[in-house]
Amino acid sequence: MGARFAGVLARIRSASGVGPLSLASPLPIPTPVADDSDKTLFQKIADGEVPADVVYQDDRAVAFRDISPVAPTHVLVVPRRPIPRADAVGPEDEALVGHLFTVARRVADAEGLSDYRLVVNNGAGAGQSVFHLHVHLIGGRELSWPPG
Ligand code: AMP
Repeated sequence: MGARFAGVLARIRSASGVGPLSLASPLPIPTPVADDSDKTLFQKIADGEVPADVVYQDDRAVAFRDISPVAPTHVLVVPRRPIPRADAVGPEDEALVGHLFTVARRVADAEGLSDYRLVVNNGAGAGQSVFHLHVHLIGGRELSWPPG
């Protein structure tokens, strides 16, 4: 680099406040983009990214038919907010969890069911396989008690 050019460059840097780049210069950190892999399966269903037979939805909850039904009616009622399991429900979720029961009743009405079972499995040892809170609505046949 010629001495004259170096002098011009130094004046430009000085005027712009930008110093010479080096490996130690801080580089701009890219803004993280939301990663779909962080979503639960049921969030992806709620967002329409995974197909499902959706029977009801609103701004807080989605209800869709279970892919492996154990009765003529087997619908999962799911909050859009991904609460992992029943024992993660906090005071701030009480209205939302109550809403799941209201949605379940509406779906049961639409299915013509007066008697049905609502089940929440909490933890793998209790049969939970998808860690996004959901209420199973099961009906349309005689249901024995106790469950297995
Ligand atoms: P749980 O075992 O209580 O966590 O319930 C999870 C339920 O999700 C099971 O009954 C599964 O059959 C059901 N399930 C898993 N994948 C899907 C899917 N893609 N669409 C609908 N239901 C599903």
